[in-house]
Amino acid sequence: MDVWWLALVLTTVTAPAVSLGADRDEPEELERFEFLETHMGSAFKLVVYCTGPAPASAAARSAFDRIAQLDATLSDYRVDSELSRLGDRAGGPPIPVSADLFEVLRRSRELSERSDGAFDATINPVVKLWRRARRNRELPSPEQLDQARSRVDWRRLELDPDARTARLASEGMRLDVGGIAKGYASDAALKVLREAGITRALVAGAGDIVVGDPPPGRSGWLVGIAPLDPSGPPERYVLLANQAVSTSGDAERFVEIDGVRYSHIVDPRTGLGLTSRSSVTVVAPDGTTSDSLATAASVLGPDRGLHLIEQIEGAEALFVSIPDGADAPEVASTPGFDALLAEPEGEPGPVPALGGPEA
Ligand code: ADP
Ligand code: MG
Repeated sequence: MDVWWLALVLTTVTAPAVSLGADRDEPEELERFEFLETHMGSAFKLVVYCTGPAPASAAARSAFDRIAQLDATLSDYRVDSELSRLGDRAGGPPIPVSADLFEVLRRSRELSERSDGAFDATINPVVKLWRRARRNRELPSPEQLDQARSRVDWRRLELDPDARTARLASEGMRLDVGGIAKGYASDAALKVLREAGITRALVAGAGDIVVGDPPPGRSGWLVGIAPLDPSGPPERYVLLANQAVSTSGDAERFVEIDGVRYSHIVDPRTGLGLTSRSSVTVVAPDGTTSDSLATAASVLGPDRGLHLIEQIEGAEALFVSIPDGADAPEVASTPGFDALLAEPEGEPGPVPALGGPEA
């Protein structure tokens, strides 16, 4: 799924380079540069418009370093991350935490409240069971699920903004910010590029894309929305500037056991991986918001998910889902979503997949 997003970004931002010389608003001619690195287990791509290769590479290096630093802070795979170390102290006293970790936990908790617990950064014990299920192709037992679920509760993640401390109130609790971290890291990387003087930039952390000012001579970045079947071409495009877009869905990471597909997104109420087939695309003012909202809306389903997003300033969403028993997808969106849609100019032509010749 992410392949198409990135691939489309590739195609659509290649085109404007032709009009560079004709752009009279630009004080200097800007060239387009692309950079790709793997962080947080995902492909991160930067597209920047810059005066030359040296400043572009230097800025990209700083942006990737910032993403790597956030991975080292927020990863639940690394036992030595700040997030893991906070989990080691569950049941103990409040612990002082970095500004980044505090902000990610604060935003997570805020969304837990707004989504009635559909988004929950304390989901780690349950997600771990599902990771094991994926490896062993065997469902967790009801006892294991109950045990893990009893350790999940966002209300027992206590935050003190004045002291900048965090505390997991009961022993056995663990954190997992996989539903918000890539968006947060993409926001942070865009900020680093801006501070280096590059305002016309795009950061894509797999399906979480954050954009700054548009490419020269353009009104926005054209981003393809991946269809439910990731092998097909996008059916819709959005045109974005100084915004973010995220997709959550079951197309990429899931486990199939006894003929049932379970998503890597878990419903905290049941402790089960989602089995409904859906793809949610959220546009928001920043990637932290779009990433976390897309995960929350996946859990809530089309009706409650879109209702939640309508309450959030600057957020719009498209929900494509296949209801149980149906074979055709149903499409629903927030009232303002259609205004973001745009048509690709000219023929996009053959699109290289990520990992192909252009990637
Ligand atoms: P992707 O990683 O494919 O971009 P998401 O942004 O939707 O997808 O995040 C999925 C990840 O979020 C999971 O791998 C897990 O780490 C975490 N997660 C799963 N269920 C929840 C949930 N209900 N609330 C918060 N985070 C979740
Ligand atoms: Mg997410």
